[in-house]
Amino acid sequence: RFKSNNNSSNDFPKNNLPNSGQNANGRSLSIDEQRHQLPVYKVRKQLLNKIASSKTLIVIGETGSGKTTQIPQMIHESIKVNVGIIAVTQPRRVAAITIAKRVALEQKCCIGDTVGYTVRFEDVTSPKTKIKYMTDGSLLREALSDKFLRKYRVIILDEAHERTINTDVLFGIVKEAQRLRMEKGLLPLKIIIMSATMDVDHFSKYFNNCEPIYLAGRTYPVKVLHTAETQSDYLNACLVTLFQIHKTIPVNHDVLIFLTGQDEIENLASQIRCIVKVSNELGGPMIRVFPLYAQLNQNKQLEVFQPSTNNYRKVILSTNIAETSLTIKGIKYVIDSGMVKRKMYDSVTGMDTLKVTRISQDQAWQRTGRAGRESEGFCYRTYTMNEYRMMPAVSVPEILRSNITATVLQLLALGINCRKFDFLDKPSDKDIENAQKQLYELGAITKPNGDELTEVGWNMSKFPLDPRFSKMLLSSIEFGCLDEMLSIVSILSGETIFYQSDDPDKRVEALKAHAKFESIHGDHLTVLNVYNEFKHAERHRTFCHENYLHYRNLEYARDVRRQLSVICERLQLKMSSCGNDYDQVRKCLLTGLYNNVAEMQQDHNFVSVTGRLKTKIHPSSVLNNKANLKFVLFTELVQTSMNFMRIVSSIEPEWIEEVVPNCGLSNRLSIFNQKVNEN
Ligand code: ADP
Ligand code: MG
Repeated sequence: RFKSNNNSSNDFPKNNLPNSGQNANGRSLSIDEQRHQLPVYKVRKQLLNKIASSKTLIVIGETGSGKTTQIPQMIHESIKVNVGIIAVTQPRRVAAITIAKRVALEQKCCIGDTVGYTVRFEDVTSPKTKIKYMTDGSLLREALSDKFLRKYRVIILDEAHERTINTDVLFGIVKEAQRLRMEKGLLPLKIIIMSATMDVDHFSKYFNNCEPIYLAGRTYPVKVLHTAETQSDYLNACLVTLFQIHKTIPVNHDVLIFLTGQDEIENLASQIRCIVKVSNELGGPMIRVFPLYAQLNQNKQLEVFQPSTNNYRKVILSTNIAETSLTIKGIKYVIDSGMVKRKMYDSVTGMDTLKVTRISQDQAWQRTGRAGRESEGFCYRTYTMNEYRMMPAVSVPEILRSNITATVLQLLALGINCRKFDFLDKPSDKDIENAQKQLYELGAITKPNGDELTEVGWNMSKFPLDPRFSKMLLSSIEFGCLDEMLSIVSILSGETIFYQSDDPDKRVEALKAHAKFESIHGDHLTVLNVYNEFKHAERHRTFCHENYLHYRNLEYARDVRRQLSVICERLQLKMSSCGNDYDQVRKCLLTGLYNNVAEMQQDHNFVSVTGRLKTKIHPSSVLNNKANLKFVLFTELVQTSMNFMRIVSSIEPEWIEEVVPNCGLSNRLSIFNQKVNEN
């Protein structure tokens, strides 16, 4: 049961600008016509003048107004002399790739020609590339080899309101690059900050009081409804809401549901498909379900953008990726679970967890806005008005709620002391201290709170990986298992290689197929088994098909492995393999993941050695429900109903003293006189 919020129309003013996609006669528009109808085109001249006359510019405009796709093209088309590249950063690789492909289409070129993209482990650019979409992380890595960022004439930091760690660090890096280039009399660097909404004053002050430009948005009123009562199960609430509105609304009105992650989305998608199957048989309106999340394969992602036909309803289940980065046409109804999955760092326990939490009010309005892009819409919030009021007004920037070890290492490799860096919002001293402590334990810096990198530290900074993973590659030399570690780290860098089917019968078959690869030592060696068999298989695709494995994800791992091997060669690391001596591999894992050790308690639950968190092995692990486990090492912690350890291996307690004697772990092992942290 929903209550309507009468004030909602004030937030979304009525505006009767023409619709895109079709003209008044219903004829579909050409791609050029579509471009020229976007709101940003109305201010093209002023915008270009402003860009020409300012060093730094802030551009704010509604999602879908054409910022990301059009502004880089406008600049490209108006620049007479063709020097330098226009870079556009995105917080997510999916967005970078999808948008680059769209813009290549608009420029009538092949992807990688005039328009290209660079994301981690994938570079689709050429010497001809002039507009380059890239993840914020990739640009940051490029800064490591050239702090002047000489290749670029314009750098557009898009989705600034998302405040990812990488974008936050880039703010400081590009600001400094701009200053340095001016000082040295090099070609000036133009910086454009783009966003849907943001705290303009804060940004403007930081960027030398630069002026913001507001693009007039094209939005229609959205009626907002809150539930009358608190929902204990937001997934069920979303499902019920969907079928309530499905019965009553015209079939060509599409629905977008905001959820938190892949598992949840796939589960709800199969539930909806099951119900729809029955309803279709009874002659009800058709539904097609489209999941949308970062890990989804490319082709599936692009399907979402296909316009729906008149004989079925599109229901999109998305993470916050559809909040501002990707705009999908035809949405008239939004169902907002009010939840998001976030990385949270607890500086007391020193643990990073992925946690499902409430969104901010700001995000709630972004989600609502997706329903009013083309005509009046509706937003069903599966939380009460009171719960909305309790939400924080804006989200806390990632840099203030994450482990910043990787950032501190990257800055040190750039010769920058984190404490002196010009942050938009500075992390706390405690967080910086923790990061330095971890770097010291990993052997990356010379002193516990120093800012001088060791050789290991320099080498670690050369890999586009979490420092703990780079450390494992480097220490595999000592354990004689570089070959094995390269495979494991490559697989951990991508998405799951195990295919899960919607069909219950196939699920059983998949489990049987996966069992063949199972290692009694845990998931790391299990994925290694898969990789080794995949590598030797005669026909890769068939092998994956027969064994319920993700072909693309394994191919991706193979590609990542190739690139990591090149870096290893450059660092002159000698290739080695430990054969069947798999203890070496597990010891080597410990050199990076020593903070992620948990020991079993009498009640068969685990408790993490660092932080004393109560935790369980994730049901997807091969070690789930296995007897005789004492100590395990995990790759990550995911918090849903409780803390679950994902990708787990068993280890021997004696190894801790042998492998990481300086990390103070062994004296924390006894569980009896220490308090367990319940959350
Ligand atoms: P903004 O950055 O201001 O949110 P965009 O430049 O991303 O806006 O999008 C402008 C328009 O281009 C939107 O109406 C969107 O639907 C359309 N668009 C973007 N990507 C694609 C795509 N891959 N396929 C079809 N249309 C797209
Ligand atoms: Mg955009």
